[in-house]
Amino acid sequence: MDYWSKHYIPTLKESPAEAEIDSHKLLLRAGLVRKIGSGIYAFLPLGAKALENVKNVCREEMDRAGAMELLMPAVVPAEYWKAGPRWNAAREIMYQVGSAGEKAELPEDPQFVLGPTHEEIVTPLIGGEATSYRDMGKTFYQVQTKFRNEIRPRYGLMRAREFIMKDGYSFDATDEEATDTYKRMAGAYEKFFARCGLKFISVEADTGVMGGAFSHEFMVPAEVGDDDVVYNIESGYAANVEKATSGIIPTDFADIAPAGEIEKFETPGVKTIEKLAKEPFNIPADQQFKTLLFVGDDKLFAVVVRGCDQVEEAKLASLGYSLLRPATVDEIFEAMGAYPGSLGAVKGTIKDRSKLDGVYADEAVRLVGNGVTGANEKAMHLKNVNVSRDLDIDKFGDFRKVQAGEPCPISGQPLEIQRAIEVGHIFKLGTKYSENTEYGAHYVDKDGNRQPAVMGCYGIGISRTLQSIIEQCHDKNGIVWPWHVAPYQVLIITLDPGMEEADALTAKLGAAAEAAGATVLVDDREERPGFKFKDADLIGIPLRITIGGRGLKNGEVEMKWRDQGDMMKVSIADAESTLV
Ligand code: ATP
Ligand code: MG
Ligand code: MG
Ligand code: MG
Repeated sequence: MDYWSKHYIPTLKESPAEAEIDSHKLLLRAGLVRKIGSGIYAFLPLGAKALENVKNVCREEMDRAGAMELLMPAVVPAEYWKAGPRWNAAREIMYQVGSAGEKAELPEDPQFVLGPTHEEIVTPLIGGEATSYRDMGKTFYQVQTKFRNEIRPRYGLMRAREFIMKDGYSFDATDEEATDTYKRMAGAYEKFFARCGLKFISVEADTGVMGGAFSHEFMVPAEVGDDDVVYNIESGYAANVEKATSGIIPTDFADIAPAGEIEKFETPGVKTIEKLAKEPFNIPADQQFKTLLFVGDDKLFAVVVRGCDQVEEAKLASLGYSLLRPATVDEIFEAMGAYPGSLGAVKGTIKDRSKLDGVYADEAVRLVGNGVTGANEKAMHLKNVNVSRDLDIDKFGDFRKVQAGEPCPISGQPLEIQRAIEVGHIFKLGTKYSENTEYGAHYVDKDGNRQPAVMGCYGIGISRTLQSIIEQCHDKNGIVWPWHVAPYQVLIITLDPGMEEADALTAKLGAAAEAAGATVLVDDREERPGFKFKDADLIGIPLRITIGGRGLKNGEVEMKWRDQGDMMKVSIADAESTLV
């Protein structure tokens, strides 16, 4: 039992200007978090408790599904990433540091990175020692701080630069076993989000159809989300708009056009990327920029744009022809595993333009495109597009995403669209990471053959989930915590702190609630009742018990559930038995 007078719960009447959305305002007003820097937050005691509860519910569901908790380092030697398939693309989002103790800067050749996710680490960690098929069929997870240098952190914990993730990784001997593991994890995710009190949907997500991989996202419907989901209730179809639009979009350019293959597309007279960058844009040497590839009617296009995280935001000046590497549409579609009529946009980034000097477009595309992140970003996947010479931002209206009312691919009935927050993402990886010779994960099968493990990865944004709960569970007065994640489950407000009888009853009811397994906070502050009730609504503890005043004289206490309007007057004896 904790006492408010000794606690640190700095509630605020007004929400600070930095907060735009309800859940962010309430995180601050209820004294759960404070901002330290852009996208960087500290959890105050109440916030830390709620966060811990979300983590623990997650751990319970992971353990129940047979996964094992481990803990990997957050600071990892860069060579692990350099050996993997997405070093160039992922560098943009990674914090990179020099040798320990050196002044923090972005070194050209960093020795360490702060982990944004851990496929590159877990694969050799497990793969280095798992030698037999008997070592397969294992799933590991960790609950860890992750670091991503998001271009535009926003909405508090929703898109932060430092955040808490549960990341899990599975290693199986066969494709079928990997699919079973994936399904078991999907089931655990459903239980987890349900216990968090969230209404959510699981939707098909982009993967790029390569190597039999597939993927689902767990989405919390909310207007403040960054994703769009299309669905049809009757047919049960639900997908991220990007997936629905493309059906084909690779998450990783390396998958669709491995470095070796790109050279095959050599075309005489191809412009250098340097020229392209200079002519239409005049991009200063030190400025980051990106390349987008478009598949038009019969050509592959690459478009260089200034640093931006979404196409909508790109200040696309009219382009000097950005055709880099003509190839027939059939070649492209074959390479992408795609269907004619669809379009893929592939985005890569390079920070150091000097690296591109004198490099031919093909090579530049390989450099920037290796391990692409664009597949799952807004407006990156467009349909039936015809890139013209004078492409500019306004013309992006012509590139269309799947719209509400378009036919459902299963039933043909009209699709609906809903904005949503991505709280979890699971992915059947196949052998993309395991097949690496040095940093991979292989095992010897029953017949003595060396095989790459079939992997899956499973992420939950723990801190984003916490805020999503608040976004979905609040009213005009404050948070309405679901039971399992509430920082405390019972709040006892004593209106007469220091009065012997009231204190004794508080202690007694608090002990009864604790004995029943609930966590208890006592508001014993010397404040007016109205002030305490306001705070109680704001911090949103599920069950409120008020002791004191006239009720106490009548042998009664008041009980009120935060999610219900009515207050119940209950005899002291009944209150005790209610709690037990
Ligand atoms: P987003 O599309 O929102 O950028 P993502 O697809 O890049 O997310 P994943 O790589 O799938 O994220 O990571 C797994 C989970 O981690 C996500 O489903 C999300 O809940 C959470 N997450 C990712 N980025 C952030 C962030 N910047 N702040 C908080 N949580 C995040
Ligand atoms: Mg992201
Ligand atoms: Mg995403
Ligand atoms: Mg994701």
